[in-house]
Amino acid sequence: MRILLTNDDGIHAPGLKVLEEIARQFSDDIWICAPSEEQSGAGHSLTLTRPVRLNTLGERRFAVTGTPTDSVMMALRTVMPDAPDLILSGVNRGANLGDDITYSGTVSAAIEGALAGIRSIAFSQVYAREGMADDVPFSAAREWGPKVLSRLIDAPMAERTLINVNFPALPPEDVKGIRVVRQGFHDYSRGSIVEGRDPRGYRYFWFGLDPIEHTLDHGTDLEAIDDGYVAVTPLQLDLTHYSTIGILAERFGD
Ligand code: MN
Repeated sequence: MRILLTNDDGIHAPGLKVLEEIARQFSDDIWICAPSEEQSGAGHSLTLTRPVRLNTLGERRFAVTGTPTDSVMMALRTVMPDAPDLILSGVNRGANLGDDITYSGTVSAAIEGALAGIRSIAFSQVYAREGMADDVPFSAAREWGPKVLSRLIDAPMAERTLINVNFPALPPEDVKGIRVVRQGFHDYSRGSIVEGRDPRGYRYFWFGLDPIEHTLDHGTDLEAIDDGYVAVTPLQLDLTHYSTIGILAERFGD
């Protein structure tokens, strides 16, 4: 089985090494193509206004001066002689839960894989907010990743779908199990934007990701993580809200 790995935290991200450890338990045919620098929050963006460079860092290991989506596109169209059977994205440094998904470079890399008709899974390691982002413990992902992947590797999946997996911020022995759950909801519209002055005196703004008020609705990824479970959420590319079609069609109808 040929597996493509990517990671929105960049080619040197510790989470990508963890993902490689997980993937090598399933195959030796591992290809890595990831952004040369961190692209968290890049969502499903494509680089269109400047050239993208491809750097070969080793055998089957490539860095792209672009987004996670650029990296998957480059891997599929330029780098890999044959398409992968599986695309794994992560392990992201931090959660991709609820409404994180459309901002997420990690999930978007898996979306790009699903668009290409390839089984794609995104992995994210939640970390405690009081912890340091430089030093995220990936132990839950390292231990539970293979257990999750062994079940997902040949699970039935519909066209244009992908899987989003989050590991809780717990030592692996404290993780209670795996739950299959729906996408929850939390609100980033009230997140903080920090204002300051740079060393030259110019005003800047920096988007923060404060702990966000959210309700832990039953059966959601947010609740599963809060309860100490690995959250597995199937996602679909079709964002249509079907019940509104009829309502709007009536409004625009003659
Ligand atoms: Mn990231």
